[in-house]
Amino acid sequence: MKPGSSQGAILVLSGPSGAGKSTIIQAASEEIGEYYFSISTTTRAPRVGEIHGKDYFFVSKESFEEDIKAGQFLEYAEVHGNYYGTSLKPVREALDQGKLVIFDIDVQGHRLVRAKMGDITTSAFITPPTLKELKKRLKERSTDDEEVIAKRIENAKKEILAVGEYDFTIINDTIEEAAKEFVIVAQAARLKQSAQEEERFIEHWLHEES
Ligand code: ADP
Ligand code: 5GP
Repeated sequence: MKPGSSQGAILVLSGPSGAGKSTIIQAASEEIGEYYFSISTTTRAPRVGEIHGKDYFFVSKESFEEDIKAGQFLEYAEVHGNYYGTSLKPVREALDQGKLVIFDIDVQGHRLVRAKMGDITTSAFITPPTLKELKKRLKERSTDDEEVIAKRIENAKKEILAVGEYDFTIINDTIEEAAKEFVIVAQAARLKQSAQEEERFIEHWLHEES
């Protein structure tokens, strides 16, 4: 039995909006093997080009609050004045199939996932080299107006303080280098063994005849 082979694993990615999380996942997607990207639900409005069911499930505040009451979220948080949450069911299904489940969630979400599923969770904080570069990229992305960008920058100044809570930091200077590092982190995430797997592995190691 190979460590990490029987049960799925979680890889949490966080970092300021505009850090390059989507770009890096996209750039590395061919090389990280089979994975399931957890599509979050949000109450924020779609950006130009974003697709319901692919980038996010875009819902009303009322619908989101109903889902909270129904206990459908593994975690949820309020970010930049909107709700964002991860639905539990598809994550469970992907884990049961032994897949690597990738989350793009904020630092609050990371804390909640760690608390609930820490033994199968690996995490990486992704950031541009400097705040100045982040501002430049957010402006160049041209998907948000000045006020929204200002909110994201203010939030980024707080989020960077949580960098030490993560297993790895990926500095997104060039996309190529960052994507390479991300592939290594994804491999590490797959190799992480849960306590249950460790027990089974020790049992097998001790008692299996060669
Ligand atoms: P996130 O998913 O973290 O919000 P994006 O992937 O949308 O961030 O990236 C934000 C913007 O920065 C996009 O316009 C993207 O093309 C650009 N970008 C990402 N990585 C780099 C990089 N290494 N160098 C220059 N621009 C980048
Ligand atoms: P954006 O609006 O740029 O897509 O995302 C804003 C922030 O919300 C990012 O930091 C992103 O990681 C975070 N986010 C996206 N989905 C979720 C989620 O399901 N849960 C939590 N806690 N944060 C999320």
